[in-house]
Amino acid sequence: MPQNTNDPLKKTWLTVAENSDFPIQNIPFGVFLTRDDIITIGTRIGDTVIDLGALHQLGYFEGIPLTDDIFLQDTLNDFISDGKKTWRAVRNRISEIFDSTNSALQSQEEHRKVVLFAIDEVEMQLPVQIGDYTDFYSSREHATNVGTMFRDPDKALMPNWLHIPVGYHGRSSTIIPSGTPIRRPYGQTLPKGADSPVFGPSKRVDFELEMAFITTDANALGEPVSISEAEEYIFGMVVFNDWSARDIQKWEYVPLGPFLAKNFASSISPWIVTMDALEPFRVASPAQEPAPLPYLQLDGDHSFDIHLEVALTPENSPTTILSKSNFKYMYWTMAQQLAHHTVNGCKVNSGDLMGSGTISGPTPDSYGSMLELAWQGTKPLKLEGGEERTFIEDNDTVSMTGYCEKDGLRIGFGEVRTKLLPAFNPKE
Ligand code: CA
Repeated sequence: MPQNTNDPLKKTWLTVAENSDFPIQNIPFGVFLTRDDIITIGTRIGDTVIDLGALHQLGYFEGIPLTDDIFLQDTLNDFISDGKKTWRAVRNRISEIFDSTNSALQSQEEHRKVVLFAIDEVEMQLPVQIGDYTDFYSSREHATNVGTMFRDPDKALMPNWLHIPVGYHGRSSTIIPSGTPIRRPYGQTLPKGADSPVFGPSKRVDFELEMAFITTDANALGEPVSISEAEEYIFGMVVFNDWSARDIQKWEYVPLGPFLAKNFASSISPWIVTMDALEPFRVASPAQEPAPLPYLQLDGDHSFDIHLEVALTPENSPTTILSKSNFKYMYWTMAQQLAHHTVNGCKVNSGDLMGSGTISGPTPDSYGSMLELAWQGTKPLKLEGGEERTFIEDNDTVSMTGYCEKDGLRIGFGEVRTKLLPAFNPKE
């Protein structure tokens, strides 16, 4: 099945603002609640949201083998399970229906009324039921910075780091869509110089600028996914804020790794941008020296040029851009992560989510966490409103955006935006 959606010259009959993240070439997938309180699967062009359930009922997907209720669901899991051929056929058809030269839907006012919504009329939901969540640690700059701060600048990278895409199993129950506020977590921490821990709200809440990919059913238990096939099983990507409590993390992470410091919340952008839409922005990943073991070797370009930005907005205060990074800085590629994840026969399912790990670039203004930007609290950041920050304060809002741009074509992810509320107070 060829895909016919990337032509940068293609225009739509819907209104799309210049610099929109969602031109007709994007066609991401999401789940939303309509103004009539109906949950449905949809896509987005410009600021218009398209109800794919309604479009399917009206017969616009005729000729594509889809079950009647494939879009009338509250998650994308079944659609993702249908595989790449189906994703392509559906995106190709959406691209045709909304092409400026096609009047089939455009001329049917009654159809348009039930299919199209303004973005501010709908409420975006979590797009998939995430069965399993794995988080990697694949930015060399981030791992080096953290190793320098927490251990030894001369041995910042652990001996395994250049050989294995290091990762851990996270918790899917606390992955939330953009717009859902979170609470400052409680936990145990060891104050500097103390011999025993104390309990209370974390004093070092941080964001992690990441991206995540969502998989389809990839393998049977016991069967690895080879690196050359791995990309076939990736449905698409989102921007991902993997919230972290650095003081809790520092005390609890030995010897089994992250636990409560990482599982109180992780926020995702609500539109899953497909790998087909990202194809024009494919670039090489950093050279790997020493060469990884053969099962992790793959020729060609397997990273993507995705500009990332983090901004902080304190309550009643202007927004400050904290960092500008890029997905292409990742040392380990998604194909390597997925091949490594399954090399022991671990089963990967439709709707699993894999985080990249914090994406830090080479310069201090491209670091992907407050831990690095303010260097463990030693270099406070000056905000536009005159305040300073070393970590995230109560009622601060953190937003992250991502987009690709090349030859006049821009494909974006929208944003993931989260407000940090004060710690839970049982008396409230
Ligand atoms: Ca993380």
